[in-house]
Amino acid sequence: MTEHTKVDFGADSVDGEIASTPGPTVLEKAAPRNDRMASNKIECNACPVLCQISEGRTGACDRYANASGRLIRVDPVVFLSNSSSRSDSTDALVDFGASSAAKEQGSQEALFVTGVGASSTYPDYRPAPFIVASKLDDVDMVTVVTEGIFSYCSFKVKIDTDRFLGPEQANVRCHGEIVGHVTTAEYGSQMLSLGGAGGSLRAGATENPVLLTRAIKQKLVNVTCGGAPAYVWPGGGITVMVDVSRMPDRSFGTVPTPAIVAPIEFTMTYDAYRDLGGHLDAVRSLDNVLASGPEHMEGAPLARRTLARNPDNPWPRRPCRPCSTRRHAHRKR
Ligand code: SF4
Repeated sequence: MTEHTKVDFGADSVDGEIASTPGPTVLEKAAPRNDRMASNKIECNACPVLCQISEGRTGACDRYANASGRLIRVDPVVFLSNSSSRSDSTDALVDFGASSAAKEQGSQEALFVTGVGASSTYPDYRPAPFIVASKLDDVDMVTVVTEGIFSYCSFKVKIDTDRFLGPEQANVRCHGEIVGHVTTAEYGSQMLSLGGAGGSLRAGATENPVLLTRAIKQKLVNVTCGGAPAYVWPGGGITVMVDVSRMPDRSFGTVPTPAIVAPIEFTMTYDAYRDLGGHLDAVRSLDNVLASGPEHMEGAPLARRTLARNPDNPWPRRPCRPCSTRRHAHRKR
């Protein structure tokens, strides 16, 4: 199978002068395989299927399409309105940059961008398309959204042994990094739960995925799925559980690898985002997003729709843990 990513630091290209100071592994998008594609096709690289999509058609998952030679995300990205009033929401599609967006500018405290329809790539080799800055009282906030391809991200390991591996929730480590935890024994077998939201998904949010995981464990980051509160399991990775009935309709997708695609949002203060190595150059104001759309247009949605938030859900755009700079944010729900 043709590789769809490559790393800068391949063994053949290591410079002896700098080999002892390894830098970060940088994933780059591979060159398009145009030699294998008809001229009217484009390649979708949002998952390893790498569909070659003819003009006017969609790929195998019906999530991406070729629109006049441009790869687009078919579904609109979903925003939530901080109102349980249906009159404040609209299921109508609004194109990014449409004149109606201007009316909403200045109402940034009342809108939350979700990962539903946001688009993503697997692996992530660039910042997530929506990294949105906003104000909550006097606190600068950032919300990073993406669609996680979840079959790659977590799995259970069954170990047929009578040996005691550790108590439930004990950490499982690989080369020192926590990668999972001991979970409930099943039918006499010891079970390990490994992974969660994967390194690829996290790479769209930060240059240092381990720091994002740590910040979530320290409750500096509020994790939501389609605006619904997520329960973050103890142990390694970002393993979340969410009540899907509290998420917007049509929040999930599938790709034929097979995998389920689910929205996930990380909300935190700007300071916390900076400290965990976030993609600060890709942070844009909510007003800018409403006016211009996502950060990059390849595979991006062209429109948005706004739904009233589920009244059972707390407003998701708030940090988790009070501290000197975050107490303001906790006053307002
Ligand atoms: S299955 Fe969907 S996401 Fe995967 S390459 Fe095809 S169109 Fe893209």
